[in-house]
Amino acid sequence: MARYTGPVCRLCRAENKKLMLKGDRCKSDKCAINRKRPAPGKDPKGRQGKRSDYGVQLREKQKLRRIYGMQEKQFRLFFQRALRMAGITGENLFVLLERRLDNVIYRLRFASSRSQARQIVLHGHVTVNGRRVSIPSYLVKPEDEIAIREGSRNLVIIKEALKEFGKSGVMPWFHLDPDTMKGKFLAVPRRSDITDLEDIKEQMIVEYYSK
Ligand code: SF4
Repeated sequence: MARYTGPVCRLCRAENKKLMLKGDRCKSDKCAINRKRPAPGKDPKGRQGKRSDYGVQLREKQKLRRIYGMQEKQFRLFFQRALRMAGITGENLFVLLERRLDNVIYRLRFASSRSQARQIVLHGHVTVNGRRVSIPSYLVKPEDEIAIREGSRNLVIIKEALKEFGKSGVMPWFHLDPDTMKGKFLAVPRRSDITDLEDIKEQMIVEYYSK
């Protein structure tokens, strides 16, 4: 399946949730969700037909997949890996998604959105434990040191993202040194630690793929 290249705010309006796909704009008054524009194809007065169980599960899966900017095939592979791990599948899925290098770059405030983080990784601006890694789906482990390469530290997009978002700090499972543009992945988070996605119902995603 091809990567979605259309207007990303449309995806948020379809899910009626801020998926945070556009960096700074998502926190501004220009956000389409803040302005409460009706979702594409939806009744402007908000009247909705009742969704089937399958429809609700599908929407939950699409929301999470879009938040992490993944294509269906890769998202499904992550789910299958989560299924093979010990423990609760839905929680395992979150842990795997959080370990992706593009997500880690976003969480460390080196990018204003996950799609921008993906580009930063793809263009070879990132090192893990001193070695260049340009694979967005690379899975980071506890104690890994993630840094912006020395020759890339003057890139405006990275400096601007750090300036804008660095003020609010990083999630507790990271350590960030903004001056050297180095960070550390301290530990694998628990599901309850991922507070900005607490409204996602991962059990529905498990049910969706279990059919
Ligand atoms: Fe979604 Fe961000 Fe667009 Fe708002 S500005 S609708 S959160 S992508």
